[in-house]
Amino acid sequence: MTQKSIADSIATLPPLREIIKAHDLAARKSLGQNFLLDLNLTGKIARSAGDLSVGTVVEVGPGPGGLTRALLSEGAASVVAIEKDRRCLEALAPLVLASQGRLHVIEGDALTIDYGALGPAPLKIVANLPYNIATPLLINWLRNADGIASLSLMFQKEVAERIVALPGDRAYSRLSVLCNWRCDTRISLTLPPQAFTPPPKVSSAVVSLIPKHPDPTDCDPALLELVTQAAFGQRRKMLRGSLKSLVTQPETVLEMANIAPTRRAEELSVAEFTALTRAIATQKIPAAGITPPPE
Ligand code: SAM
Repeated sequence: MTQKSIADSIATLPPLREIIKAHDLAARKSLGQNFLLDLNLTGKIARSAGDLSVGTVVEVGPGPGGLTRALLSEGAASVVAIEKDRRCLEALAPLVLASQGRLHVIEGDALTIDYGALGPAPLKIVANLPYNIATPLLINWLRNADGIASLSLMFQKEVAERIVALPGDRAYSRLSVLCNWRCDTRISLTLPPQAFTPPPKVSSAVVSLIPKHPDPTDCDPALLELVTQAAFGQRRKMLRGSLKSLVTQPETVLEMANIAPTRRAEELSVAEFTALTRAIATQKIPAAGITPPPE
């Protein structure tokens, strides 16, 4: 089996529109189905994920298989595709055959899969995500980013902009802090609605997230999630006010972290958020079930 013979057999498969018609894959909104049928585009997305020839590529939601074809044609050694819509599984059968053992399709829910058990490292996640669950999926991957080498993910453009935003940007948000604490992030491609079938209402963008290794253990990730939630929950408020939902004396922890109490969440750098999280870790936070570490 050679890469060329796999790419050649994939090239002889029927066009995606025919697959969709033959398997009656009318797009379901409830499953976030906006398909990519232009193989030039899917090729670009697959290439944006870098070298796929070692380890395991995980694709969430292969649908009719446009991006999956591209991943295999671009040299992925092993692709594990997780799909919730049973209709797509049959539609993908010819591609599984053409892949000569390189494609495994799992019927399942990407929100509950154990990603660590899917195949040998390095694990690269590449997906045109269902937008209705894109953010929960990303948060879950960030929590388990140790085992992930890279993520190349299609989001609504507005979400992509939040992921890569810097302090002071209008899009700077809780998601920006959580993503950039754990990963290097950048937008690698933007796409208009017409690139999809059916077209969504908004533009889209592929974000590349590369987890930082070794794991940045400079603060407790679960507590960072709570701190950013409290701070951005009232983003226009000064931190001495917004942090009251988490700690009884915000001024004390802000002073410990060397942050003026009059500053706002939208101005704080990721490093300042981690300093603040370390300071808060020394306090008793009954609401979050967190108590300070023993002396
Ligand atoms: N990858 C295909 C493409 O680019 O044309 C389809 C992408 S479409 C935006 C999202 C895909 O995710 C659909 O095939 C949908 O059925 C699937 N999906 C939706 N929710 C899912 C879930 N919870 N777990 C796994 N797949 C899901």
